[in-house]
Amino acid sequence: MKSTVTLKLKIRKNPALLQTMEAYSKVVAYIAEQGYTNKISNHYQLHHLCYYPAKQHFHLPSQFIINANRVASQTLRSIKKSKGRQPLFKAYLPLDFDKRTFTFSFDKVRLTTIHGRIDIPLNIPEYYWKYLDWSWQTAQVMMHHEQLFIHITFTRTIALVANGGKTLGIDLGIRHLAVTSSKRFFSSKQVKRKRIMFKRLKARLQAKGTKSAKKLLKKISGREQRFMAWVNHNVSKEIISTAEPGDTIALENIKGIRRKHLGKNINFWLHGWSFYQLQSFITYKATIKGIQVVKVNPCYTSQICSHCMSLGSRTGNFFRCTQCDYSLNADLNASINLAKRGSMSDSVLVAVNQPHISGDDSKATRVSSYRTADELRDNVPRMERSAL
Ligand SMILES: [Zn+2]
Repeated sequence: MKSTVTLKLKIRKNPALLQTMEAYSKVVAYIAEQGYTNKISNHYQLHHLCYYPAKQHFHLPSQFIINANRVASQTLRSIKKSKGRQPLFKAYLPLDFDKRTFTFSFDKVRLTTIHGRIDIPLNIPEYYWKYLDWSWQTAQVMMHHEQLFIHITFTRTIALVANGGKTLGIDLGIRHLAVTSSKRFFSSKQVKRKRIMFKRLKARLQAKGTKSAKKLLKKISGREQRFMAWVNHNVSKEIISTAEPGDTIALENIKGIRRKHLGKNINFWLHGWSFYQLQSFITYKATIKGIQVVKVNPCYTSQICSHCMSLGSRTGNFFRCTQCDYSLNADLNASINLAKRGSMSDSVLVAVNQPHISGDDSKATRVSSYRTADELRDNVPRMERSAL
């Protein structure tokens, strides 16, 4: 399995680099103009028509002209589809680098520009250091709000021990934010209390309706979102710390959660809390550690006995089997059932893109995982993008 992460770093403006971006943007505009007037959008034909004139006129390294050609062709094809007008381009388009045009070493990148290779110093924050021994692949330099950024992608291949490890089931829900089949309980009590506080506060402000109340309301919503992300980060971190590389984590296919229980209070609780976020945090943290994540159908996981698979009944927090008289915490029973399903072959492997949450160590990092073609051929039925 391969993991990819993108480090997003601010860099100092460098004249050679800016001039290269400018020239590149001009080449994109030039090729797009040629394509537009000659009614060509195919990138081979565009290359044929524009490569040498562009090379002579703009003195841009060939790799950038090839990239410019690709960008122009994509733009032309999309305006052809939408019957749009001749495209206009920004003065500084994002500039792509690959192994031919850039190298990375811990404190700097060396980039190819129209004035030869230049070194740009990097200031890499500590929370990114764990990725530095991954292998660097591509980079993109871009202008955003008058500031210059570089995005560098790193990959790492994680060897999965096929069916070697244990499977951990995770039940998400009402009484507990999460319960693992290894008997870890994450209570939702305090979180609920805090959310009710937020709810009351918001209701009061809404009733007021003044301009300053609205402003405060927005601020409080942001605070609530950050609180939720913080809790989800901590719960996912704890869960991952109990699993080892080679293990599998079984999550429920989330659509089922909202149908699981009813009631007005519970609905408020369920609809407000992002279980999607919790699952995606679990998935990306697992991926980095070499733990596979699968999604399983949660149907009946709370009604079936995890011991003998017969139907049982739930009273409050407890599940009791009508067949074998086995009884245990109901959420734990469900998580054990999820683990059992996860170790079966019909579960679905999860690929995830890490969401952007401000104010945590995941800021501006994206992690995704996917299987190599060989692993895919073996026995995985299909890939599924996570809900976020
Ligand atoms: Zn039973």
